[in-house]
Amino acid sequence: MVYSMRFITRLCLFYLFLLQPLSSYALPQHSLVPGGIAVIKLDRNDSRPEFRFRGKPILITNHKNHYIAIVGLPLNLKPGEYFIEGYWGKESTLQKKFFVVKQKNYTTQHITIKDKRKVNPYAKDMERILKEKKRKQKARKTFDRQPADLDFELPVEGIKTGSFGKRRVFNGQARRPHSGMDIAADTGTPVRAPAAGIVIETGDFFFSGNLIYLHHGQGLITLFAHLDQIDVTIGDKVKKGQVIGRVGATGRVTGPHLHWSLGLNGTWIDPALFFPIGP
Ligand SMILES: [Zn+2]
Repeated sequence: MVYSMRFITRLCLFYLFLLQPLSSYALPQHSLVPGGIAVIKLDRNDSRPEFRFRGKPILITNHKNHYIAIVGLPLNLKPGEYFIEGYWGKESTLQKKFFVVKQKNYTTQHITIKDKRKVNPYAKDMERILKEKKRKQKARKTFDRQPADLDFELPVEGIKTGSFGKRRVFNGQARRPHSGMDIAADTGTPVRAPAAGIVIETGDFFFSGNLIYLHHGQGLITLFAHLDQIDVTIGDKVKKGQVIGRVGATGRVTGPHLHWSLGLNGTWIDPALFFPIGP
């Protein structure tokens, strides 16, 4: 039997299409709650779109030949209707995509910290804390147009403890809700990059202890806190699975664990949503 080149080309393209889902990653879970992620399929795929949520650029990924917006929803977002807005390519008409955020009631967690200074810092600590806060905000808001790898691996094998979003009461005093996932592991356990990225901040911080910020592209940020050891420096390019530090008990902690935060468009969201079947 003789096939035309056109038929063979089409057959090859068809098999490439079939293979694509196998090699492509799963998208994060769509969860329209504060601290969740809006996964929004964009209507067109003919040119690369640029979209924003509340004025901030958002991550756009190409998944199975469609552009998908991956939008981080802040923990303090009030339930209600929101939208993303943007353009496709050179098109001048502003497009909007709407979605509704529902309420989620996070539970409260009471924690006793032995080092009282970490709950009620001295006046002389405040200058350091404010400087560190600015560095953290800057790191969290990093954005570029590099494609982001959304196929994450857990940075540490261990037992998940304090979950994301819990309201926190330290030594009887209300503090900000938990902005990440805690993974219990022994001091010295290797911490691995969950995806390829660039080291954008490291240091010994008052509350977070030894920390590392990675940027995975398009504002997808991960933060690793309370480390015993930091094995990377700012500007390093890291590969998925590469050891970047060691679990520790530095900063405001009750014991050794990894605090892992995941940010999108400048806001922390629940890292568990990046594991569609659950970590
Ligand atoms: Zn934590």
